[in-house]
Amino acid sequence: MSNINPELRKDPISGRWVIISTARAERPDPPEPRREEETPEARARCPFCYGHEEQTPPEIFTIRKNGEPPNSSGWLTRVVPNKFPAFGIFPEINLRRVGMFQIATGYGAHEVVIESPEHDIYIEHQPPEQVTRIVDTWWERHVDLERDPKLKYVLVFKNHGRAAGASLTHPHAQIIATTVVPDALKVKLSRAKKHYEGGEGCIWCRQIEQLFYYENRIYNPDGSVLVEVYQRDRLVAESDNFIACIPFAARMPYEIHILPKTHQHSFIQTTPEERVELAGILKTVLMKVYKLLGNPPYNFYIHSAPNLSVRPRMGNYMTIKEDFHWHIEILVRTTIWAGFEQGSGIYINPLNPTDAARYLKEIEVDEV
Ligand SMILES: [Zn+2]
Ligand SMILES: [Zn+2]
Ligand SMILES: [Zn+2]
Repeated sequence: MSNINPELRKDPISGRWVIISTARAERPDPPEPRREEETPEARARCPFCYGHEEQTPPEIFTIRKNGEPPNSSGWLTRVVPNKFPAFGIFPEINLRRVGMFQIATGYGAHEVVIESPEHDIYIEHQPPEQVTRIVDTWWERHVDLERDPKLKYVLVFKNHGRAAGASLTHPHAQIIATTVVPDALKVKLSRAKKHYEGGEGCIWCRQIEQLFYYENRIYNPDGSVLVEVYQRDRLVAESDNFIACIPFAARMPYEIHILPKTHQHSFIQTTPEERVELAGILKTVLMKVYKLLGNPPYNFYIHSAPNLSVRPRMGNYMTIKEDFHWHIEILVRTTIWAGFEQGSGIYINPLNPTDAARYLKEIEVDEV
């Protein structure tokens, strides 16, 4: 495989351009795992450890070993409202105008999913059963929040490491539910709908197909091969029902997407068996990232279709069950988006997606 250097690639879903600017690189030696700095006092005070349940607002949901009473120790996963919420559940949504500006009451939900009682065991080091409990906890909360028809969008996300925005070391994810569909999703929704209406089906299903069955060659005038991209080379891991891959126009070296192979519009459609498998591939991918890059900071989030109990099958939502394909996006913080990225919305990725996938594939992890 060879490639033009540098190369502009367009992401078909976001419409975003990325400059892949890379010399063919050898895999770097994995660094020592980065350790999160924390004072003994901060650790002793951690509100997410056993015995400190009263330091958080009362719990919303838990998976427990033996049905201990609420807000006591013994839980395996625990969900509490965020103590410093970006949103709260207010009685009504109050929209006002101030000149050209709009203000709405911050109606919504902001929850914290504490992944386990263990203060410094990351998700990738948890046993498979615990990772499944974590994924099931996200699912339970996502399903429950969609029962509120005022909440149009539920976003499950995780910040790992201070550099990625985690303010507490104890492993946790967050869930925010909003009365508006976030702009980042609106762009994807409208492009996905256009693609579908153009008669080409789900844009993610097509990409998965390309990944498995497509070879792409661009020729020089003399007939020699200028670019040759085997889409399949972007695959990082695979199970019966899920794939993990580096997207064609990855914004950063280790942007990794996890998708169900067969079409589903929302994470809430997954079956318990599928969530066991999802937990497995997530653990595998995060363990590869941990080993290759030495516990780097990262963010991930689940992109599902908006809450369909709000506006079932109307207007923009008419074909959403067919045109939107849920997925997880993992963004490992190995690069910093600077002025050019901020100002132009064009990203510079210094590592070819094929090389990134190869480095991750080469990292051995125990079979889940
Ligand atoms: Zn803790
Ligand atoms: Zn699809
Ligand atoms: Zn997405």
